[in-house]
Amino acid sequence: MKNVILIAPPAAGKGTLSDSLCKEYGYISLSTGDMLREKAKNDSELLEMIKTGKLIDDKTVFDAFALRLNEIGDSSYILDGFPRTVKQARMYDEMLSKLNRDLGVVIYLDVEEDELLSRVTSRIVCPKCKRSYSTRNKSLLPKIEGLCDTCGESLVKRSDDVAEVFDHRYKEYLEKTKPLIDYYKSKGVLYTIVSTSVDETFNLVSEIIK
Ligand SMILES: [Zn+2]
Repeated sequence: MKNVILIAPPAAGKGTLSDSLCKEYGYISLSTGDMLREKAKNDSELLEMIKTGKLIDDKTVFDAFALRLNEIGDSSYILDGFPRTVKQARMYDEMLSKLNRDLGVVIYLDVEEDELLSRVTSRIVCPKCKRSYSTRNKSLLPKIEGLCDTCGESLVKRSDDVAEVFDHRYKEYLEKTKPLIDYYKSKGVLYTIVSTSVDETFNLVSEIIK
């Protein structure tokens, strides 16, 4: 399996896709937050930075990243929410070439703004396992109305799943992510997925990563 960098606007179904890929193909999902927390176990300075919410510099992030890559060995992995900037993307390229590892593919979930907004406003989540459902999308309806399929908890609406918060996040996303998409497009590793359902997205991505 090829390594995957996932790029998607808020509410495009990144989490759902990532979970399916891990379950179906044995991918490991890597987030910089987890890597930093892991490294902080033996690094009191870093622990303090995380605790106080200080902005963590790229070098520290990449140190934690290299450590984690070393741990997972040859397993294929998914990067969700990283790199965030073109600068980080370049640093990531350098790190990969030093470690003699392959970038794999960059998968961009391209979803219309109207559709995203509709997903956000119809989203309900399980407070226990964080799995998300929809009150509108048939493929994401819980089996029993209002209850989590996995743990039976009552599903809730998140307070930030409203139009105003979405608009702000979407604008921020466009500003920050567009250059990253262009960067990976120019390297010839970008695959754009335009899809209407969770299953279709999964099938299209499955073809790309094999
Ligand atoms: Zn649950």
